[in-house]
Amino acid sequence: MPRPIQAVIHHDALKHNLSIVRQNVPGSKVFAVVKANAYGHGIERVYDALKSADGFALLDIDEAKRIRALGWHGAILLLEGIFSAQDLYDCEQYQLNFTIHSEAQLQWLQEYQSPAQFNIFLKMNSGMNRLGFTPERYRQVWEQLNRFKNVRSITHMMHFSDADGDRLGQDGIEHQLIAFDHTTQDLPGKRSLSNSAAILRHSTLDTDIVRAGILLYGSSPDYPTHSIQDWDLKPTMSLRSELIAIQNLKKNDTVGYGSKFTAETAMTIGIVACGYADGYQRITATGTPVLVNGQRTHIVGRVSMDMLAVDLSNILHAEIGSEVVLWGQAQTGEILPIDEVAAGSGTIGYELMCSVTQRVSFKIEA
Ligand SMILES: *Cc1c(COP(=O)(O)O)cnc(C)c1O
Repeated sequence: MPRPIQAVIHHDALKHNLSIVRQNVPGSKVFAVVKANAYGHGIERVYDALKSADGFALLDIDEAKRIRALGWHGAILLLEGIFSAQDLYDCEQYQLNFTIHSEAQLQWLQEYQSPAQFNIFLKMNSGMNRLGFTPERYRQVWEQLNRFKNVRSITHMMHFSDADGDRLGQDGIEHQLIAFDHTTQDLPGKRSLSNSAAILRHSTLDTDIVRAGILLYGSSPDYPTHSIQDWDLKPTMSLRSELIAIQNLKKNDTVGYGSKFTAETAMTIGIVACGYADGYQRITATGTPVLVNGQRTHIVGRVSMDMLAVDLSNILHAEIGSEVVLWGQAQTGEILPIDEVAAGSGTIGYELMCSVTQRVSFKIEA
């Protein structure tokens, strides 16, 4: 028997979450963001559930090739564009759309000798200060690209830094929108602005192409302000394991490395086949929620490489082999949002779902 830990990918939940995007922005094309191997889910594992999207967006040309290998003939967008002039050969061969965010990329494209034509996403740095041309430079680059024979279309693109909050007192997006609109308002071409947080919180923006990432994977982009239940999203990845031992503690007994947890009274704990070598973060705090037999309890003591301990005080029928859900859905339907678990180690759902390690086997559920 293999170790009982498993990551389950839920196709019905992926389809449901995609339908929530459609409901929010009915006038937009939806590009499903599948970077980082589909946020840790596995591109090949999510493809069938997401192939009704209007396009896929990602970073690595190798991931783009994998999507083509699955039979996808539609749009693919490289969110960070090309990393060298040579990448243009792949863009041509695999018909990839790509962003232009830097002078170097502009030059590579200008010097590319081929009759091929590309669909460009011209990226503006509207305030996030990671990638893109400043509003001052943007129009010049746009005009330049219009004269390139190898440019078929130019989509105006930017990315929000604060669509999940209301920092800067401007509802998070206003200052960037002003810069973007001011610069592009009289220019023809499609627009692509929204990430998950903007799709959910600023759905009236409804631009031509939205780039939906984390919400497809059942994590709330603005947790704890809103939970996945608030947004009607469903977990798409469940990390499930089992109890492999049970210990009866006396008052003052301790648990695990460093004896970080001390029993205040006699109690029962369960040992779960899941540790940081599976991707469950070592720094996760005592008290972080977990489901045992579909019932909510919490972890106690330090997470070790292969195991962690859970409080069984109020759990009915706990025994060796009982199901433990670290995040996601129990087989009986109870839900533990990944966002609540991420909060237990001071991170976000994105990081946990991207961190499940090689030794965990995956399974797809319809
Ligand atoms: C990752 C990414 C997205 C998706 O962001 P989510 O918050 O996961 O929806 C959208 N646009 C760009 C440019 C990205 O890099």
